[in-house]
Amino acid sequence: MQKIRSGTLAALFFGSIFIPALSLAAAPADSPIREAALNDTVAWDFIEGLTTEIGPRPAGTPQEARARDWAVTKLKSLGFSNVRAETYTMPVWLRGHEEARVISPYPQNLILAALGNSASTPEKGIEDEVAYFPTLADLEAAPEGSLKGKIAFVSHAMHATQDGSSYGYFGAARRQGPSIASKKGAIAILIRSIGTDSHRQPHTGVQMWTDGVKPIPAAALSVPDAEQLTRMISRGQPIRLHLTLSSKMLKDQPSGNVIAEIPGGDPKAGVVVAACHLDSWDQGTGAIDDGAGCGIVAAAALQASKAGPLRRTIRVLMAGAEEVGGNGGRAYYEAHGKEPHAMAMESDFGADRVWRVDFKLPQGHDALTRRLATVLEPLGIGASRLPAGGGSDIEPLIKAGVPVVDLQQDGTRYFDIHHTPDDTLDKVDLQQLRQNVAAWAVALFEIANAPESLGVK
Ligand code: ZN
Ligand code: ZN
Repeated sequence: MQKIRSGTLAALFFGSIFIPALSLAAAPADSPIREAALNDTVAWDFIEGLTTEIGPRPAGTPQEARARDWAVTKLKSLGFSNVRAETYTMPVWLRGHEEARVISPYPQNLILAALGNSASTPEKGIEDEVAYFPTLADLEAAPEGSLKGKIAFVSHAMHATQDGSSYGYFGAARRQGPSIASKKGAIAILIRSIGTDSHRQPHTGVQMWTDGVKPIPAAALSVPDAEQLTRMISRGQPIRLHLTLSSKMLKDQPSGNVIAEIPGGDPKAGVVVAACHLDSWDQGTGAIDDGAGCGIVAAAALQASKAGPLRRTIRVLMAGAEEVGGNGGRAYYEAHGKEPHAMAMESDFGADRVWRVDFKLPQGHDALTRRLATVLEPLGIGASRLPAGGGSDIEPLIKAGVPVVDLQQDGTRYFDIHHTPDDTLDKVDLQQLRQNVAAWAVALFEIANAPESLGVK
């Protein structure tokens, strides 16, 4: 997942939003949608099928193409309309061989995974001294040129939070650390995994070289290996490390989005986009990131449609290439950005329960906010006063001012597994998954049938 910092956007497009006190006293009526969705089988079936029959789905690879074909067949068989893949091309980075070994003074191997867009070492690897930085700020403070011929190592230990907000802060070591280290002359960089587990599973993820920076080999050590290296460093002797990372860059490879619709009765009222991403990292099978999101939005759209006719079309967007920079979300916007959009929502934070709902609606939509809070409250979901921000698959829509509602999932254990080989089906909890489907189904039904304009003229 990639969270957008939303405060500034909200202020820009909608001014400050006041959410009135919610009347939780009104007992929520029995909801057939909620009850049916709490027994949903479609979401699990989708995730189980995608992770078993396709497995890992790296952006721009034949596996991602197979996932598109699989999803098109599946969504058609589930009864969606206008199901199709929309393709585009993009450059693709492919992982090769990766190996790290402490040469002296405590010879032993370390477990690591290259970060997206990492440069390769020469085939025989590189060997040099480690320069240690406890935090990203320490790396930033290092004088220009001071890392010449060194392998930078940034620890920057991440801690779990329920809302996942620590990913933004600690994730900077992965997103910006490699470019900063290269600017200061480092020949390679290792970071402590952006993860909250204590397993010997490194967390990969994308990083982009800033303009004019020379790409260097960049990798994440598993959390226990990062701690091991830190302990060695604390003993005071210089640490020499041998590092081999190989990778390939391919030009113009096909990637694409899959789109499926539940048609609404009033095309002028704008579409409601329910987004997830179909691609995954290469090492796990992409169950929580983001097979789960795709299962949730597809199942919820079907549950909402079973409850009665919809005013607005619900458009499921299964984006390609989210992990490597949001190419699918941008391609969707280029193809469809001019169509009226009433709402954009995204599920890309695993399969654990929804605990909070955030809104960013146009002025004058307080009644819709209250209705959504009322239908979500029986599922244990509280309305917040924080503005919704969406995610990278819908980021271009949000930037263009499309309203957004975030069903925030519990992220306490998400970063134990995120972007590791451990992202597999067994991590999905069926009851929590069904709570997600129920939350999405009641919200989609309410939004798709809302008489309000949602900013569509
Ligand atoms: Zn991800
Ligand atoms: Zn994701």
